[in-house]
Amino acid sequence: MPAYDDRSDIRAVPVHHHPSWAEDTPEWGIETLLSHVGTLTDPTTGAITTPIHLSTAFGHPGLRQSTGYDYARTATPTRDVLQDALARLDGGAAGFATSSGMAAVQLVVEALAQHGSRIVALEDLYGGSFRYLQVLKEEGAYDVDFVFGEDELRTALQTPAALVLIETPTNPMMATFDVDAVAELAHAAGALLAVDNTFYTPVNLRPLEHGADVALSSGTKYLGGHNDVSAGTIVVADPRLGERLQYRINTTGATLDPFSSFLLLRGMKTLALRMEKHEANAKEVAAFLESSEHVTRVLYPGRSGMISFDLAQDVDIAVFLESVRVFTFAESLGGVESLVTCPSVQTHADVPPETREKYGLTDRLLRLSVGIETAADLVTDLRQALEAGAAAAA
Ligand SMILES: *Cc1c(COP(=O)(O)O)cnc(C)c1O
Repeated sequence: MPAYDDRSDIRAVPVHHHPSWAEDTPEWGIETLLSHVGTLTDPTTGAITTPIHLSTAFGHPGLRQSTGYDYARTATPTRDVLQDALARLDGGAAGFATSSGMAAVQLVVEALAQHGSRIVALEDLYGGSFRYLQVLKEEGAYDVDFVFGEDELRTALQTPAALVLIETPTNPMMATFDVDAVAELAHAAGALLAVDNTFYTPVNLRPLEHGADVALSSGTKYLGGHNDVSAGTIVVADPRLGERLQYRINTTGATLDPFSSFLLLRGMKTLALRMEKHEANAKEVAAFLESSEHVTRVLYPGRSGMISFDLAQDVDIAVFLESVRVFTFAESLGGVESLVTCPSVQTHADVPPETREKYGLTDRLLRLSVGIETAADLVTDLRQALEAGAAAAA
């Protein structure tokens, strides 16, 4: 039984739902659900897309009466539509939209794990999540245990914990985990399992269906999909956890604003289609990299659009990064445009070099976010940049 059951000291309030969405629950497939997110949520106008309600204050019909909306930090109609869509996509009881992916990680940690409790997290998490948990550990706020791989995770969970945080696949090493198995281990240790599902999205994996208590993600990446909105998402299976998150987010305020909520809803409408093309392109790019003499290792889990690979010693990494034309050397992922990242100097620069080395994140590892361009153009671009890098190093 998870430890939160007896943690009555953690405050909770009811979660607000947008009425017109919550009542309507047909058994749709994920493509239908996605293309319809936010559709027909305004009964007064029949608007096909979700209106952006910018109002921060809402009038009360009378004393102790409310339309359901009081103040924007607590709830806004636009964010509610998004949150209900998130909950539904992941099959959860409640969804939350935060101002960034890191705000989602912070909310989950601080609302669901009591100060001083033990957290078990993967050592090869996204660099920002690792840095945040490292800070909490150094400050003595939590007893954080970093583990690498399933064996270390299993050993760590022989000792009770409050929260387990994993990614599958991990960023950027692409290690995948059996969520059902990890959930069993976590629950046996009295811990909640939170899965950062940024890379797979609900199109490829719905962690709650595999026993996870919390699915979270950086909406900045695939959900938004266009590199134009910073957001985070959280979905919980148990409504009591939703009440704790609602209390905390209303108290601390890292909520998603109405315009960003609209952008995320708009991006999500094409998520299924985009994921299909990201994956088809990634398979072609991975096959090309496997065949290249300038590449020594390719890490691709076979789904979604993220690939990591090691450049051979005969390629000048700086020249390679300056030579790409279809790919852009930049620090994000999940958008329609292809990006290439050098984790050791960008996303994972704050992970100590010896830790990075231990889990195989070398200085020659590059991470690709494969976009939705013409696959042949992506392969041609990588080929010419590898050749340019090799010529420069010769
Ligand atoms: C980017 C990312 C985050 C952080 O999200 P932000 O929106 O940048 O705050 C968390 N987890 C993973 C796996 C990420 O890729």
